[in-house]
Amino acid sequence: MPQPQFPPATHADATTDANAPLGEFALIRRYFARPSPRAVLGIGDDCALLAGPSGLHWAVSTDMLVAGRHFFPDADPRMLGHKALAVNLSDLAACGAQPQACTLALALPQADPAWLGPFSEGLLALADAHGCELIGGDTTRGPLTICITVFGHVPQHQALLRSGARAGDDVYVSGQLGDARLALEARQGLRPLDPSTLAAAALRMDQPTPRIALGMALRGVASAAADVSDGLAGDLGHILAQSSVGACLHADVLPTLLAHRTAAGTEAEALQYVLSGGDDYELVFTAPPSARAAVQAASHTSHTAVTRIGYLTPEPGLRLVDAQGQHSDYAATAFDHFLS
Ligand code: ADP
Ligand code: MG
Repeated sequence: MPQPQFPPATHADATTDANAPLGEFALIRRYFARPSPRAVLGIGDDCALLAGPSGLHWAVSTDMLVAGRHFFPDADPRMLGHKALAVNLSDLAACGAQPQACTLALALPQADPAWLGPFSEGLLALADAHGCELIGGDTTRGPLTICITVFGHVPQHQALLRSGARAGDDVYVSGQLGDARLALEARQGLRPLDPSTLAAAALRMDQPTPRIALGMALRGVASAAADVSDGLAGDLGHILAQSSVGACLHADVLPTLLAHRTAAGTEAEALQYVLSGGDDYELVFTAPPSARAAVQAASHTSHTAVTRIGYLTPEPGLRLVDAQGQHSDYAATAFDHFLS
């Protein structure tokens, strides 16, 4: 299996100006990305892969949630426990891996049973639902930070990578996109939402569903996959960059992915939520047209809705095509922790 190319350098990375802002990926590339001969797949994908016993690979991924950055400090602890594990399981889903175990590193301002009780229940309920055993971790006093590492199994050569897409493949996403961002903006006071719409959209932000069953069902079907954590345009952009292809997406289909479309304002605003919202934890994946029936079967067996949103092109870049066949370029604005 080829080692992935860490997302190719962008214009911003190439700068020699020591005072220029350093983006998240440029930072990882410059200071941490190394060849990893021991890993089957190293830095640069949703999970790393390590060779395991009897034809299996271990898929491993770590994600950290920081109070005030990834969640409001007064967030409901039960939902936070769920979300902290869900965002990690989502990376296993993106690789088609089956969860096995996790570790939990916690920094806590104080040992508060009223917080720890529901937090642990939320986390462990989701862990149990996916057969993911909590096997260790670390606990210290400090600003509230939750760091989870997940370990999953995937049969050798069946992991879904960001690098396997080919021109001509279809592009799909699971579930719905953009509603988490809508809820975030409402909570930040940037967009008025009626209480019932806010409650429904907030569930998407607070209780994401990791698409484990779909990821496993897409083994041998999808040519590439990633989970949508930083926005569809950005995360599909990783697949495009690592597969050396471009994409053309149907501008009339995308807004239909937003469950609360009317609350989002104009069609153009709905499109923006879907393409750049983030925090969705759906899967974006590609598959050849010959696999359309197999994709539908995977959707069916995993009880997960899937929408075909476009196709891949040999020309790089992300374009939108409207119902009249008019093309326009789309400048991806994925969330970046150091440039935003
Ligand atoms: P994801 O959004 O799928 O969790 P990220 O965008 O956070 O992935 O990270 C991109 C890649 O860089 C992943 O392969 C991740 O493991 C790796 N990575 C992120 N931070 C570091 C770090 N500090 N050291 C080494 N690798 C890192
Ligand atoms: Mg990911």
